[in-house]
Amino acid sequence: MKAQYLVILGTGGTIAGKADNAGDNIGYTAAQVGVEQLLHAVPGLSECGPFITEQVAQLDSKDMSFAVWAQLAARVNHFLARPDVQGIVITHGTDTLEETAYFLQAVCRPSKPVVLTCAMRPATALAPDGPQNLLDAVAVACHPGARGVVAVCAGTIHSAFDVQKVHPYRLDAFSSGDAGPVGFIEEGRLKLSRNWPEWPIAQAERAQLAIESIANWQDWPRVEIVMSYAGASAAIVEALVVQGVRGLVAATTGNGTLHHALQKGLLQAQAGGVKVVRASRCINGRILPLPGDALADSGGLSPVKARVALMLALLAEADAART
Ligand code: ASP
Repeated sequence: MKAQYLVILGTGGTIAGKADNAGDNIGYTAAQVGVEQLLHAVPGLSECGPFITEQVAQLDSKDMSFAVWAQLAARVNHFLARPDVQGIVITHGTDTLEETAYFLQAVCRPSKPVVLTCAMRPATALAPDGPQNLLDAVAVACHPGARGVVAVCAGTIHSAFDVQKVHPYRLDAFSSGDAGPVGFIEEGRLKLSRNWPEWPIAQAERAQLAIESIANWQDWPRVEIVMSYAGASAAIVEALVVQGVRGLVAATTGNGTLHHALQKGLLQAQAGGVKVVRASRCINGRILPLPGDALADSGGLSPVKARVALMLALLAEADAART
């Protein structure tokens, strides 16, 4: 049988970060070490190959851009289509990892594993977490039956739909909320707690429309997040509408509720043609819709993921209008 390659795509992040001294876990510069070097820093990893490595980007993921997303999706699709590739691992910063995971799942819909991994400590740390995370991610990408976009951090596998960064410092910085993780990696072995994530067909079809044009898309539809809180007003919504915003995600209180002033502004924006979606600012759970809700809800997506979903839906709509 022909060798099955594992593809490792580098995008930067703390996993590739460097600090001036080994005791410094926070005063580092992200995205300094190349993906090839990261691989070499993990003892025993070469035995899991053969690998193909590619540096798709080198950035702090707080600065993630649509251009990098488009390029990453194109490279992921390219390698997924190769029959000699069994899976893909992507090294990524933790800050926007959940957004990239959701984006890639929505536009690539992989039947092979695409595993995002990261680190909370730079590569130069006294006890860096990146090498173990990379080793674990490779174990997931090699696992028979693994599929879809997942995130691996601190021995835990999270689905793209559920994963969320919940801690700014601890090594176990991610949570899958109420859904719970897909599973765990212990000494290279997987212990699954649920099935590999499936993707709702309607969303998949919508996303498929978008991927065809993503590579050429210059101006992504502008979608912003506005939050409801004590003393909120419609001022930000009104300013965004004047600027031509195409979509708004309202990060609501509790079960989709909004300060009445903000709600009025959002309803006016919607009446004027802006797409509005509500996503709860609560860390767990999802909005339980009521009959006759005037504003749609995100179906359980967090505000940042609901924003990605809305951008993709608007892209698909624009595509459909052109053809
Ligand atoms: N700012 C870094 C990034 O997201 C944080 C990290 O990777 O942990 O690239």
